[in-house]
Amino acid sequence: MKHVLMAISGPSGVGKGTIVKTLISRREDVVESVSCTTRKPREGEIDGKHYFFLEKEEFLRRIGENDFLEYNEHFGNYYGTPKSFVEKTLESKSIIMEIEVVGALNAKKVFPETVLVMIVPPSIEELKKRLIGRGTEGKEEIERRLARLEFELSHKDQYDYVIVNDDLETAIAEIEKIIDKE
Ligand code: ADP
Ligand code: 5GP
Repeated sequence: MKHVLMAISGPSGVGKGTIVKTLISRREDVVESVSCTTRKPREGEIDGKHYFFLEKEEFLRRIGENDFLEYNEHFGNYYGTPKSFVEKTLESKSIIMEIEVVGALNAKKVFPETVLVMIVPPSIEELKKRLIGRGTEGKEEIERRLARLEFELSHKDQYDYVIVNDDLETAIAEIEKIIDKE
């Protein structure tokens, strides 16, 4: 059985985290890659579970050691996917990376089998509603994330699949179908 390395991207607030968390809780053969970041932990976030939280110096050192499958500077912080985890885990399970577009396209360059999935909102209004409704960012940070929206969506033609997250269960089912097909 071949395992899939899937990168899921899409604008902040579109529902990537919700989709991935739900899917992983239902499938033993799929895991989520835990990224490294220099961003500070949010309340309730656990080091090693949600992210590996690193100081910038440590992150830069690991870039120098070629430790990341891909990385990017995003919203003022570094984010990257540890290469060793991906290589080891792919032998037995499929992996979902929830990463932004620049990192996802770089991952595909390094590892062409990477399946790129873009999640898009049913409408911009609905996206704003979700982002505000989540309540994890202040007004300024929400504006910053919305400003990135066009950039993320403008890369959708470079993705293998584009999925609209209107009904959550439908979106999850579509991703499962891709994993099984690929
Ligand atoms: P992302 O990880 O893409 O930033 P989240 O998974 O945190 O987005 O989702 C943002 C908000 O939208 C959350 O409050 C989540 O519960 C809600 N949400 C996700 N998917 C749907 C959906 N299909 N319909 C309505 N609300 C959704
Ligand atoms: P957050 O700070 O909300 O957890 O994540 C912000 C953004 O960083 C999200 O769009 C997410 O997709 C992206 N991201 C998280 N981990 C990685 C990673 O390892 N590499 C890249 N390139 N982006 C990531």
